[in-house]
Amino acid sequence: MFLEVQLAKAAEAIRKSSYTVAFTGAGVSVESGIPPFRGVDGIWSRYDPRLLEINHFYEKPVESWSLIRDIFYSYFKQARFNRAHEVLARMEAEGLLGCVITQNIDNLHQEAGSRCVYEFHGNSKRLICTRCGESMDSADVDFENIPPYCSHCHGLLKPDFIFFGEGIPPAAFQGSVDAANRARTLIIIGSTGEVMPASQMPYIAKQSGAVIIEVNIEPSRFTSGITDIFLEGKATYVMDLLAGELFP
Ligand code: NAD
Repeated sequence: MFLEVQLAKAAEAIRKSSYTVAFTGAGVSVESGIPPFRGVDGIWSRYDPRLLEINHFYEKPVESWSLIRDIFYSYFKQARFNRAHEVLARMEAEGLLGCVITQNIDNLHQEAGSRCVYEFHGNSKRLICTRCGESMDSADVDFENIPPYCSHCHGLLKPDFIFFGEGIPPAAFQGSVDAANRARTLIIIGSTGEVMPASQMPYIAKQSGAVIIEVNIEPSRFTSGITDIFLEGKATYVMDLLAGELFP
């Protein structure tokens, strides 16, 4: 009953909003089979995050690449977008969503049909050559022998997501800040709000007067601070119900 009331409020805020933004974290992809990084079942309980430090990558690329291949090109490869990704794509297509700011690097928003996506931390589906800057699709790269090298200049290839110690891609950062400033409503889905500076985006929106809707299985750092409408539950369940309200 309480969720029903909250859902109706959320749908009303979205319908009234001249510009709505979704801000997504690892939680939106959990039901696609990609675990979060932290927590008991998180990826860091099984792998050493130091292997994803940028200095380590350049010093010991084979070590880093063995983890990268396991997590991002074997495990993540099985993942398919879910109902929550789908609903966001439909909202955009129907003019109810301006863009998605995502912390995720799994490309699932784009695969579900979202067009305007700011990839705050990059994207694992692309690789870049650390020597000539050539960008390529991971599907075209042979991971049999690691580290993989560029077919043009034989430079070391790196996934096009940010490693620990690297800065946010400037275009994604600026696009996200502009979208957050412009937002009249912002929907946070599945984020603890612990990763900076990404977690600042909902605060920027709030300061600009946006209504903050949050979807999560449990309260996050945002919930007691800036969230106006908390929709408690799994992302697929809640977003499916929200779609029912928005597209009756
Ligand atoms: P996080 O791992 O810190 O937190 C995940 C959040 O999702 C938690 O608040 C949790 O309660 C919630 N959650 C878990 N299952 C959920 C579900 N089914 N429905 C709704 N909510 C659910 O995530 P974060 O805040 O995004 O920060 C993690 C960092 O790690 C990010 O920088 C991100 O780039 C990266 N990461 C990305 C992926 C990915 O690409 N899919 C996966 C793991 C981590």
